[in-house]
Amino acid sequence: MDISSYMDFFVRLARETGDRKREFLELGRKAGRFPAASTSNGEISIWCSNDCLGMGQHPDVLDTMKRALDEYGGGSGGSRNTGGTNHFHVALEREPAELHGKEDAVLFTSGYSANEGSLSVLAGAVDDCQVFSDSANHASIIDGLRHSGARKHVFRHNDGRHLEELLAAADRDKPKFIALESVHSMRGDIAPLAEIAGLAKRYGAVTFLDEVHAVGMYGPGGAGIAARDGVHCEFTVVMGTLAKAFGMTGGYVTGPAVLMDAVRARARSFVFTTALPPAVAAGALAAVRHLRGSDEERRRPAENARLTHGLLRERDIPVLSDRSPIVPVLVGEDRMCKRMSALPLERHGAYVQAIDAPSVPAGEEILRIAPSAVHETEEIHRFVDALDGIWSELGAARRV
Ligand code: PMP
Repeated sequence: MDISSYMDFFVRLARETGDRKREFLELGRKAGRFPAASTSNGEISIWCSNDCLGMGQHPDVLDTMKRALDEYGGGSGGSRNTGGTNHFHVALEREPAELHGKEDAVLFTSGYSANEGSLSVLAGAVDDCQVFSDSANHASIIDGLRHSGARKHVFRHNDGRHLEELLAAADRDKPKFIALESVHSMRGDIAPLAEIAGLAKRYGAVTFLDEVHAVGMYGPGGAGIAARDGVHCEFTVVMGTLAKAFGMTGGYVTGPAVLMDAVRARARSFVFTTALPPAVAAGALAAVRHLRGSDEERRRPAENARLTHGLLRERDIPVLSDRSPIVPVLVGEDRMCKRMSALPLERHGAYVQAIDAPSVPAGEEILRIAPSAVHETEEIHRFVDALDGIWSELGAARRV
C-alpha cells in the first residue's frame, strides 16, 4: 500500500469524526484566584472544573510544591522501579491506604492508569473469573476489565436487582468480581453501596469501587461514599484520583497488601511509565492531608450545587440528578449542546463544557455544571438566569 492510500484513510476518518473534531478552549487558570481564568477574549469564570474545591490553587499546596521543586527539581528521573521513587511517592501510598482503612495502596500517574492497570491484573488473576460491571462504568474500568480477559456481565446502572439476577444466574462455584463507581462521573448519581456490598458478600464476590468523584468530597476526612455509609471495609479495593477534589494529578488503588503487591509487580501502566514528578506528588500529598483535616472546603460545593439544582428546577431546566456536586443538565442534542456551552461563554464569561459522545451516549449530551467552593450565591443566580435566557432563545426542551 503506498503512503497516499493511508492518507485517504485518515482524511475519511477525520471527515467521519465530523462534529466530534476537538477544539480546546485555552484557559489560563489563575493561581490563587480560582475559579477565574484568562482566555483570548478576556477573563472568565469556570463552572465545570473537576478541581471544584480549588485545591490545585490552594496557597499551602502551592508552597509545598515550590519547596519540593527547589529541593528535588523537575522530573522524577525514572519509573518507580528504576530510580524514580521519591519519599513523596511512598507517603502518597501510605496516606490513601490510611484514608480508606486499607492495608496498602499503589500510586499511579493517573486515575485512568490506576483503573486500567489494576483491573487488568486483579480481574484476570483468578482462573475462570466472572466480572460484573455497571453499564455506565468509566472507560478506564471498561478497558481494564477488557485487558484482564475475564468474562464480563453488564448490569443496569446502579440497579442492585439486576446485579442480583446476574449473580444468581452465574455458576455458583466460579469466582466473581464486581466493579462500579460510587458517584457517577457524568450523571452525578450515587450507587447503592450497602446493597451491592451485601450482594457481594452473599455471592462471594470481590469488589472494586471507583471513588474518583467522591474522594475529598464525602465521608470522614474525605474518604468517600463507602466510608460515609460505613461500608468501606466491605469493598475489597477502593480506588481514587488525585486530579479532582485534590486538584493535582495521579491516581491510586487501595486494598489488601497481597493484592497491592500483585498490582505493583504486574500492572503494565504502573511498571512501564515514569513516576510522577516529586513536586506533583508533594502537592497531591499536601491536598490529601489538608482535606483529611478540614471539612470546610467540601461543604461549600454541596451547598452551591443544591442552590444551582433548585434554581434550575424552578425554571424547568432538566437537571438529571440532585444527589452530588455534579449538576448534569440534559440537552440531548449535540449541536444544541455546543451552542448552549458557547453562548454563556461569549456573553457572560461563564465557561461550562458541553459533554458529548463518547463521554456520554449520543443523544444524551449534557452540560456538566460543577459549581465550585468559591462561587458566590449572587453569581449562581446570575449564571442560572443567563442559562435560562439562552435556553429560551435556543428553544431547548424544558422539564414536563
Ligand atoms: N474514573 C472515573 C469515574 C472518572 O470520571 C475518571 C476521570 N474522568 C477517571 C476514573 C480517571 O481519572 P483521571 O482523570 O485521574 O485519569
